[in-house]
Amino acid sequence: MKRCKKCKLLKPLKDFDKHTNMKDNHISICKECKKENNRKYQQKYWEKNKEKLSIKKKEYFQSPTGIWSILRENRSKRKISKEDFVKWYDNQLRRCAYCNIEEKEIIGTIFKKRKVSRLQIDRKNPNKSYQKNNIVLACPQCNWMKGSYFNFNQMKLIGQVLKKIRKNKIK
Ligand SMILES: [Zn+2]
Ligand SMILES: [Zn+2]
Repeated sequence: MKRCKKCKLLKPLKDFDKHTNMKDNHISICKECKKENNRKYQQKYWEKNKEKLSIKKKEYFQSPTGIWSILRENRSKRKISKEDFVKWYDNQLRRCAYCNIEEKEIIGTIFKKRKVSRLQIDRKNPNKSYQKNNIVLACPQCNWMKGSYFNFNQMKLIGQVLKKIRKNKIK
């Protein structure tokens, strides 16, 4: 038995983590107190670095690897490796496959109350997985309009109309 320095309770040795530098080869606070300490430490660390961490998180989800990792949300629907995806992403012209708008033109605009930060990954055929030859970059408007209502070719036509509307050619 050993008394924990923190909670002052007498507990069996097995409730203390092993450590060879200690006299009895166990650390001075019990496992439960250690867990609690870790939790507090992590919370403090997070609070202290909240801003930095959230910027890092944002940056990550803007990067090809981060974008790929979100495709995993629906694991069964992703059939492209991280490497292939990054390669594919880096080779894209950063234009919407449907209306042809450039990514830099939409960054910072608002769509459905959310700030647009990049083009989205759309599946040409939504019944197929995220895989080579089935993914394209699409602006949020086109991605949303296409949904599961229009197929790729139909949406391409709609994209051309949208482009004209944006340029005030159709009123
Ligand atoms: Zn304790
Ligand atoms: Zn578009």
